[in-house]
Amino acid sequence: MSIFKKGIYFGVAVCDVSTGEYYATQINENNNFERLLDEISRFSPAEIIANDLLYASSEEIAKIKERFGLYISKANEEAFTTNTEKIIENYEIVSDKGIKIHTFEDKLFAVAAINGLLDYLNQTQKIKLEHINTIQIYNTNKYMSLDINARRNLEITERMRDKSKKGTLLWVLDKTSTSMGGRMLRRWLSDPLIDIFEIRNRLDAVEELKDNIMLRGDIVETLKKVYDIERLIGKISYGNANARDMISLKNSIKQLPEIKAILSKTNSALIQKLYTQLDELKDVYMLIDKAIIEEPPISVKEGGMIKKGYNEEVDELKSATTDGKKWLMELEVKEKEQTGIKNLKVGFNKVFGYFIEVTKSNLSQVPERFIRKQTLTNAERYITEELKNLEEKILGSQEKLINLEYELFLEIRCELAKQIKRIQNAANIISTLDVLTSFATVAQDLNYTKPTMTEDGIIDIQGGRHPVIEKMLPSGSFVENNTYLDKEADRLSIITGPNMAGKSTYMRQVALITLMAQVGSFVPATKANIGIVDKIFTRVGASDDLSMGQSTFMVEMMEVANILKEATSDSLVILDEIGRGTSTYDGLSIAWAVASYIADKEKCGAKTLFATHYHELTELENQVEGVKNYSIAVKEKGEDIIFLRKIVKGGTDESYGIHVAKLAGVPAPVVKKANEILKSLERKSALSKTTEKENKKQPAGQLDMYNYKLAELAHEIDKINLNELTPIEALNTLVKLKESVS
Ligand code: ADP
Ligand code: MG
Repeated sequence: MSIFKKGIYFGVAVCDVSTGEYYATQINENNNFERLLDEISRFSPAEIIANDLLYASSEEIAKIKERFGLYISKANEEAFTTNTEKIIENYEIVSDKGIKIHTFEDKLFAVAAINGLLDYLNQTQKIKLEHINTIQIYNTNKYMSLDINARRNLEITERMRDKSKKGTLLWVLDKTSTSMGGRMLRRWLSDPLIDIFEIRNRLDAVEELKDNIMLRGDIVETLKKVYDIERLIGKISYGNANARDMISLKNSIKQLPEIKAILSKTNSALIQKLYTQLDELKDVYMLIDKAIIEEPPISVKEGGMIKKGYNEEVDELKSATTDGKKWLMELEVKEKEQTGIKNLKVGFNKVFGYFIEVTKSNLSQVPERFIRKQTLTNAERYITEELKNLEEKILGSQEKLINLEYELFLEIRCELAKQIKRIQNAANIISTLDVLTSFATVAQDLNYTKPTMTEDGIIDIQGGRHPVIEKMLPSGSFVENNTYLDKEADRLSIITGPNMAGKSTYMRQVALITLMAQVGSFVPATKANIGIVDKIFTRVGASDDLSMGQSTFMVEMMEVANILKEATSDSLVILDEIGRGTSTYDGLSIAWAVASYIADKEKCGAKTLFATHYHELTELENQVEGVKNYSIAVKEKGEDIIFLRKIVKGGTDESYGIHVAKLAGVPAPVVKKANEILKSLERKSALSKTTEKENKKQPAGQLDMYNYKLAELAHEIDKINLNELTPIEALNTLVKLKESVS
């Protein structure tokens, strides 16, 4: 990635040299450095080059290094020009919709970054890379903006703890058949869309592939035979592809007509588009098929690659080497007859070449014309004039053959390099199809549903599940939950509930379902209406955020500040126990102020899920329009609590912290003491509050028992297995349920 900084603006260009993808953009709005960090995390490059100004901004450089742990170097300052001519001459410039762009004078920061990167690639790669032929200039607002914390926190492509793929959204959704598809899926997950038509197109395609099981099966079968075409193209372009790579390429291309035939039977717009655009590359297939044998050697400098019939001279030289063997046998027979030495034989070794070997006992019969070359313990080796001539003929043609085969191979590789653009396009279509098919398979296997996409700003999820936690828990044990958020009365949900109740899981589930829908995937829910969001933010309170290392309250507040600046009324904000990193009163005051600010339509109005252990925040429901209280239900059973995992209306004023301590095995005397202290504290605060309370119609933040009852009831009904119930049992169950309500 090349980053060009000018004033407070940035140009960014990024290239994957192995696959040839090349993107560029510029950031010249608000809060630019945060945006830059988002772009870096979107691509997670291996290396960054910077212009002088950025390199000299030591604070920014330090931040990038600390966040991403990558290598940053200063590049040649002169290279970062705003000259567009050379770019236009050598590359096709396309917009993020794939439309060709002819001028991009309005994107000069991006241009500077592109020029800087091209110069660097030229210097380090030394050769012109044919597979880098298109530069896509994208707008940072084509995609949903996901801040780095959201990417990390939602564990989209890597786990926070160990950076592994297992346990991430990618892990759940990746049923791709090719490594190209796997890479594209990763990119899609990093770049959720915001264009409703594009999203619907993907969803319709996934639906068709999900419903048409035969079609999906055929596609998967065929895709499995496709190698990593992108990497093969990279090798061809670098000039280090061997004949085996060409055969892999050929065998992959061989699948294209098959795929095209399968796709001809589809209806959805996106797959139809893939069908029409898929080039079967028959000429490329023929070229390799005519020239290269099926199982060529790894080395390209030892011959044995070119097929019979491809080149006359190769065929002639080949027959010279096979004929040579015949000639040598004839010579051996002739010399045996002429000298009368019965065990005389013709042989070959690498140092001395061809020779005639005569054992010691027959030395007297050796004629004058034999010239001695080598003495062994039992034998002498000779050559003759005739053998010398034969040797030249045989070895000469072998050498010629090897050279000629190498030349022809280079010609073919060059020819292929000219077709790279077409091959890349085909590879892209394969990858897209692979990802869509993977979505369809996952939707089928995990019982996902097609979300309805709207632009009304309403997120309405019925029976939502957390895709990753659901998969990690025993099948069927994850408890579904509903969500309703809109731009009006239900903008901000305050979520309370004891530790371990499932608050964080619930909030992440809403963010993940929204993200999945905008990527074009079906979602883990029974029904989902997703009003497209422009940005997702998450912030987890400092003490909960183990991976940060420094875990400072300062960092937490800086990020909260950023969310308050950046979130719009179309954004989705997840705040998980913010304010924890400081004293109770500080923390509570900050949490309170942040929640009221976000809920304020004039100032922000983003859809927000706000989990907190400050029960005082439930008061906000009465004071700020758009705020609703929820809690995650638990059931008290004597001294113990049972987690119901159901989100219900209303706040809770009990933290159950002591219950959790007991569950976790804190010794009984300690738990008992804690309970006593709690009781005395509650008595004290009750005394001080009575006067306040008398002035209010309704005591704020009270546990809503009715809703808990409902949740419990729902849970009981949920547990009933209708398939195993006799009519009598059903009746008894109904009686029991009825009793429990009355
Ligand atoms: P909190 O944030 O309230 O402390 P978490 O969201 O971290 O709680 O959840 C704690 C654990 O509870 C999770 O690791 C998960 O195993 C379990 N859990 C959470 N939600 C559910 C659910 N809906 N169904 C089943 N198990 C859940
Ligand atoms: Mg939590």
